[in-house]
Amino acid sequence: MSDIIQLLPDAIANQIAAGEVVQRPASALKELMENAIDAGATQVQVLVKEAGKMLIQVIDNGKGMSMTDARMSFERHATSKIRTSEDLFAIRTFGFRGEALASIAAVAQVEMRTREKDAELGTLIQVEGSDVKKQEPVSCMEGTQILVKNLFFNVPARRNFLKSNPVEMRHLVEEFQRVALAYPEVGFSLKQNDMELFNLPAGGKLSQRIIGIFGKSYQGQLVVCQEETPHLNVKGYVGKPEQAKKTRGEQYFFVNNRFIKSNYLHHAVANAYEGLMPSDMHPFYVLFLEIDPTHIDINVHPTKTEIKFDDERTVYAVVRSAVKQALGAHNVVPTLDFSM
Ligand code: ADP
Ligand code: MG
Repeated sequence: MSDIIQLLPDAIANQIAAGEVVQRPASALKELMENAIDAGATQVQVLVKEAGKMLIQVIDNGKGMSMTDARMSFERHATSKIRTSEDLFAIRTFGFRGEALASIAAVAQVEMRTREKDAELGTLIQVEGSDVKKQEPVSCMEGTQILVKNLFFNVPARRNFLKSNPVEMRHLVEEFQRVALAYPEVGFSLKQNDMELFNLPAGGKLSQRIIGIFGKSYQGQLVVCQEETPHLNVKGYVGKPEQAKKTRGEQYFFVNNRFIKSNYLHHAVANAYEGLMPSDMHPFYVLFLEIDPTHIDINVHPTKTEIKFDDERTVYAVVRSAVKQALGAHNVVPTLDFSM
């Protein structure tokens, strides 16, 4: 008789969890930006080097952390965002798993500086592959600055699996845009090496944010979409049919400000455009669904881009009708000659 089962050491458990949470630089950036938003930041600056493989830096002016919390934040399943299992059914923050920082720190060299508003000094913490290398008081700005260096430095197989810089950069920009679209009131900037790719001012409207991200050609091409029902509100913009493109990629659904992917809801929008453009074209849209969090389950997937609705059919119908009405109200007339 011999007992052979052992609990894994934290460092290994974290590395395994990291496989779920951090697939590539873009997934780390998403988690860091979401933490900044959850912390109430109104300014979020992002700097990446080598498409995030060498460095991802996120600076926010959010509420910061105490020294104890700064240390705790790197523990797995350590979170300030939920307390009880009931909270799981009414999540209003991006985070709730308490896994992101622990996972990122398990596979990178992380340096965090953080200070709460009324604290004289902040805290500097360095963590490398789950080992805390340094923890000391430091004078720093209010808010949190986090540097993630050499992602997957200790997991060569994963590091080799990363794609070329342009491909990884595209994923980074995509994540950046998703968060920036959902929070037009927050200012965001993105720099790659020394080049500024985006500088989106705080306090703007959604339409301004859309134009800031996608370019001036969207001016005058956006149709307001708005519908309120007892359990579900839809608002945002859809593109005029002329603005539709052959390629997909500029379609955004947010549920309670969280970006989600849903072919089912995409179909609802596409259906509303029926007869207004050829069926192989893809309309632009940025739609925000607001729904009582008790009627959805976002706990389906660690990266949380999928979601379950209690009543998917109603959501489909409301989205379709909202878009149809928007297009109708703006007298978007069918383009008759599709060969042009
Ligand atoms: P989660 O976001 O799911 O709670 P994380 O691992 O991303 O888990 O973060 C752990 C905790 O660290 C958060 O619950 C939060 O209290 C704190 N934290 C993380 N990032 C920040 C930040 N930028 N500003 C303030 N607090 C933060
Ligand atoms: Mg988080």
